[in-house]
Amino acid sequence: SAKEKGGDRFSFYEEGMSSETELRLEMENQLRHAIDRNELNLYFQPVIHLQSNTLRGVEVLLRWQNANLNNPGPDQFIPVAEQSGLIVGIGKWVLENACKQIVSWSKSGLPQLTVAINISAKQFTDGDIVENVRYALQQSGLPAAQLELEITEGLLINDTPEIRDTFAQLKNLGVHLSLDDFGTGYASLSYLKRYPFDTLKIDRSFVHDIDSCNDSVTLTNAIIAMGHSFNMTVIAEGVENLNQRRILRERHCDMIQGFLYSPPLPAEQFVSWATRYAEMQRTQHV
Ligand code: C2E
Ligand code: MG
Ligand code: MG
Ligand code: MG
Repeated sequence: SAKEKGGDRFSFYEEGMSSETELRLEMENQLRHAIDRNELNLYFQPVIHLQSNTLRGVEVLLRWQNANLNNPGPDQFIPVAEQSGLIVGIGKWVLENACKQIVSWSKSGLPQLTVAINISAKQFTDGDIVENVRYALQQSGLPAAQLELEITEGLLINDTPEIRDTFAQLKNLGVHLSLDDFGTGYASLSYLKRYPFDTLKIDRSFVHDIDSCNDSVTLTNAIIAMGHSFNMTVIAEGVENLNQRRILRERHCDMIQGFLYSPPLPAEQFVSWATRYAEMQRTQHV
């Protein structure tokens, strides 16, 4: 067969396998080599302080350049990385490289930025997240207070003493914890009380129709007020137009990110964006 000859990379096909299973397996096989083959790239999306309109930080979003698979987005390959366990190594790579990038930017004259990194539940349960974070900080020299770890509710569903202990250890390191995609899960409210989150990120599905739907305004308003009552910083993601921005500003949301400012950008393009943005602020006082 083609497989025995070592020729066709798709030759592991077995009759009866659904094409979805095939694609998943192929993705997993290729993901295994993504770091070695230099296929992973960090993209950076600006996070803006709403009252002052200044650049405060970035969220790191992973991109996988793989033409065979048509450059799958994170919504496609992150689940595969999670199910296969590959996310542990990939997540470590993201942490280390993102921290290094921020330090190198601050040395080259960009303002001090916070860096928000998405962390999968698997990195908590299967990897040594505390050790990985400690190492990334130490190796890069990034001050812990500039690092924010974004976690989704999925992790918190099994509320174990181990997870609480891990949270406490991360807080002890001095990093910030952020609850991502807030509002999309079902038990969100009790998490706010039980876990030491510093930041709440309003899911973009709420922000999306905030300018056309009163119920979304009401919900967003309530989320912001609740976050503030727990002393958390509130970030709205997915802000695409000035109307959404105005509403969020009126409701005292702290930070925003979204296509209105910029999509996630590769490192060099982010530097150009940040330089232009600072210049525009200086000359136009926006
Ligand atoms: P997330 O952390 O909630 O990231 C926000 C997503 O919204 C990103 O999608 C971003 O590109 C997109 N976005 C930002 N502004 C706008 C906007 O104004 N409009 C719209 N329509 N979308 C906007 P992306 O980059 O495709 O990432 C999807 C998800 O994949 C992320 O959701 C995160 O959960 C996960 N992810 C990405 N990178 C990593 C990573 O390094 N590690 C882990 N574990 N997960 C990651
Ligand atoms: Mg995120
Ligand atoms: Mg999110
Ligand atoms: Mg998400």
